[in-house]
Parts: sequence; C-alpha cells; structure tokens
Amino acid sequence: MTFGVGSLRGNGAVVDHRLSRRHLINEFHRGRLRQDQVCDAHPELIRAARNVGSAATIACPICELPELKLVTYVFGPRLPSHGRCVSTAKELQQLDARPDELTAYVVEACVSCRWHHLLRVLPVGRSNRRVRASS
Ligand SMILES: [Zn+2]
Repeated sequence: MTFGVGSLRGNGAVVDHRLSRRHLINEFHRGRLRQDQVCDAHPELIRAARNVGSAATIACPICELPELKLVTYVFGPRLPSHGRCVSTAKELQQLDARPDELTAYVVEACVSCRWHHLLRVLPVGRSNRRVRASS
C-alpha cells in the first residue's frame, strides 16, 4: 500500500473528525475494537511522526504514553501524490503563498503503538484565500 491521502484515517465521508476519533477510542476502551484495528498507521506516517512530527500536548489515547506526534501533510497540484510533509511553519507559509488550491491534513500519530487519526483539514493557498474572502 503506497502512502496517500487515503492512508489518513478519518478522511472521507466523516465530517466531524473529533467525533469519529472519540468513537474509535471509546470502542477500543470498551473492548469492541482490538488494538491492532486502531493502531495500524502506515509506516510512512510513523517515520514522518518520528522524524519531523511535533509533540502533541496530550498523551496517546490508546497506549497513554507521551509519544503522540502531530504531522501535517499538504496535498494539491504540483505536489507529490503522497503529499508534502510539512515540518515548519515557514514551509507552510510558503505553500500558503502558492496560487494553487491546496489542502493541509493535520494527523496525530503515536510512534509507540501506531495509533493515528486525522485531526483537522485546512484549506491552504492563495486560491483558497480568495474563496474565503469572497464568501
Ligand atoms: Zn500510543
């Protein structure tokens, strides 16, 4: 399986990422989901979390170790199909200055147990800004 936007759990039909996250965590703690069903992050995501992820303010909701990292991926035209992993605020600002419609996905990933979930989806790029300004 190659890494892509489909590897980010929570992306898709679910509108409220926090709700689907909460639901999965609850199902795990109730014993309705096994750990290997919720801790199945793509190796590429774990590598990014380990190398460039920023520490989350909370512990991992599954293994409760302080190993939770936040990783931001940006997808869009003229970016790799597996997305650009953004590690600094400066890099994100540069992408935001592009004339393209880009989308940033903020993902949490635990480098200890491999839990992962999409936290936020944000529009990036000047085209998106025009849309936002006119609406
Ligand atoms: Zn964990």
